Amino acid sequence: MSLPLPGSIDPILVPRAKLAGESRLDILGLSRAELKTALIEAGVSAPQASMRMRQIWHWVYHRGVTSFAVMDNITKDLRGDLEKVFYISRPEIVTAQYSEDGTRKYLLKFRDGSEAETVYIPDEDEKKHRGTLCISAQVGCTLNCRFCYTGTQRLVRNLEPGEIVAQMMIARDDLEEWPISTEGRRVTNIVMMGMGEPLYNFENVKKALKIIMDKEGIQLSRRRITLSTAGVVPMMERAGKEIGVNLAVSLHATNNEVRSEIVPLNKKYPLEELMAACQKYPGAHNSRRITFEYVMLKGINDSDKDAKQLIALIHRYKLPAKVNLIPFNPWPGSPYECSDWDQVKRFSGLIFKSGISAPIRMPRGRDIMAACGQLKSESVKERASARSKG
Ligand code: SAH
Repeated sequence: MSLPLPGSIDPILVPRAKLAGESRLDILGLSRAELKTALIEAGVSAPQASMRMRQIWHWVYHRGVTSFAVMDNITKDLRGDLEKVFYISRPEIVTAQYSEDGTRKYLLKFRDGSEAETVYIPDEDEKKHRGTLCISAQVGCTLNCRFCYTGTQRLVRNLEPGEIVAQMMIARDDLEEWPISTEGRRVTNIVMMGMGEPLYNFENVKKALKIIMDKEGIQLSRRRITLSTAGVVPMMERAGKEIGVNLAVSLHATNNEVRSEIVPLNKKYPLEELMAACQKYPGAHNSRRITFEYVMLKGINDSDKDAKQLIALIHRYKLPAKVNLIPFNPWPGSPYECSDWDQVKRFSGLIFKSGISAPIRMPRGRDIMAACGQLKSESVKERASARSKG
């Protein structure tokens, strides 16, 4: 059996695998079509390739296995051959932290040593057995939002499709959610709200989400997946058409002056363009509402006037929207403070009164620093202090 030719497979996968000293191909991150082609190139006969592809797909995404040895509907010889050509990856779990409230935070290390975090947040009502997985799209970020901790780290690289899918696999491994069932799941929702900007890593995010939504695999409905963007306007329409998941937009301000200060991307794509792109987002006109995230920063964007402007903005563009108010999570050296609690409640009340839902997102996993914009902070800090001690 020979190694598949790189030509027919997403070229990004091959050099990365080589770089890490691995000549085999990772199954995670391959589309079904790519897996089938790779099987043929590896020597599986063309008439058998579809069947083998489906069997492997089922083992990997339905049963969660990481070894070919257990695939007992595949002949022993072929299993041996497959092992020489493919592997089923899991990033290394550097740390797994469990909060008192059930939140779990994983720091993952990929093959080239890059690290990213994934957070599982169970529903507060334990009986519901629901939970949301917050997935990272990049290692670091280029956006430099002034209130965000990830913004203080430079962009290291985009995550590959397999590395995005792997975040889901790690959570399911840890929550013992194999084999997949449609009832009683714990990971019921995904938000692309971890590190990085998903629309700056469009192709990889799209490919990964398609794998996660696949009907013969994890089968997560697109209605249970939310992609959050700081407002990469030119990619928003494509995201709606080609991925079709729910959209969340990090709005955070209601005029260009304030927004450009806290989300520098606004200088490139100002509010008018952003709101127009929201209007065009497929599904925005029917029952699927866009979520506007709004971080509460004391004295910056949290006045009654801001609340009224926010309502006016949403009405002006006639958007079926909801607002998610996020109490600012301070980090060491952050230039802002969180709004007073009374003002957060008042702000929420004003918006609710206008007929727009505006729940306050309660911080979860505080004891393990799992909150927004703080991902990977502990690990970076720990290493910085280790360096200064050494
Ligand atoms: N780049 C994407 C997704 C990553 S951030 C985006 O900007 O939407 C996910 C959410 O957390 C965004 O709304 C972001 O603005 C918010 N966030 C980042 N740092 C925060 C902090 N320190 N406190 C509260 N919310 C924060």
